[in-house]
Amino acid sequence: MILDLFSLAGKVALVTGATRGIGLGVAQALAEVGAHVILSSRMPKPDVMASLQAAGHKVSYIAADMEDPVAPAQLVADATALHGRLDILVNNAGIAYHGDTHSFAEADYRRLMDVNVDAVFKTCQAALGPMRLQKSGVILNIGSISGFVSNIPQPQAAYNASKAAVHMLTKSLASDYASEGIRANAIAPGYIDTDMTASGFANPEWSPIWKAMTPLPMVGTPRDIGAAAVYLCSEASRYVTGEVLVVDGGYTTR
Ligand code: NDP
Repeated sequence: MILDLFSLAGKVALVTGATRGIGLGVAQALAEVGAHVILSSRMPKPDVMASLQAAGHKVSYIAADMEDPVAPAQLVADATALHGRLDILVNNAGIAYHGDTHSFAEADYRRLMDVNVDAVFKTCQAALGPMRLQKSGVILNIGSISGFVSNIPQPQAAYNASKAAVHMLTKSLASDYASEGIRANAIAPGYIDTDMTASGFANPEWSPIWKAMTPLPMVGTPRDIGAAAVYLCSEASRYVTGEVLVVDGGYTTR
């Protein structure tokens, strides 16, 4: 049955930034198709874990601040130790700062690159350890349409550059590790209803432009990204690697 290809029964997945927003949508979706999902974020969210467990999902939690340069290696080691393997890594934790480039604060630039680029590189690097031993694994990085286009009206050059780096890192890993049974793909979401976009959707100068730029007359949800993640993490996409799947309601058509 074609639906069997989407099953992740018996697989172990680690999702960063998983306690809310897109990361939680992805974690929940992977759990729904059978994966044991290890959720990570800076602060534990016992209520989120309790509700996933109450729904019958196999979930664990490990705290890690991805801004800390040693966190990626420690997180992957701890996650792999839980079940003795790591089948799926979803690099979702990310931050966004807006602001003109000519006055963008050095500290904001550094932090954005530390979380959005350096941590993603290091977490992929760490996950390649167990995945190479297993001769199998799936890496899924959450990029953005901002890695392809310059969003308007808000200036966000540093964020855009960070997401373009995620896309190219993904393609490079796909090419370099395909022969070892490891696939690497990315999802480039458009505007998704999360804490990250809440102030933008509430901004009367931004929200109408965001919506006018999006052909489908709706705002994306974390579940829309979760559905794409199930495809890219499962056997359904066994012949797909190096892809950046745009899930944006058509934003990048305009
Ligand atoms: P949210 O801000 O809603 O959630 C971010 C998640 O990441 C939370 O679980 C947060 O938990 C965690 N997090 C934040 N900073 C860190 C850190 N330093 N270390 C570890 N975990 C951290 O974000 P979204 O769900 O909106 O975005 C998720 C990803 O999707 C990001 O990479 C973002 O760039 C990307 N994206 C989002 C879009 C959107 O429209 N929302 C569009 C395109 C891409 P805690 O605070 O407890 O650590």
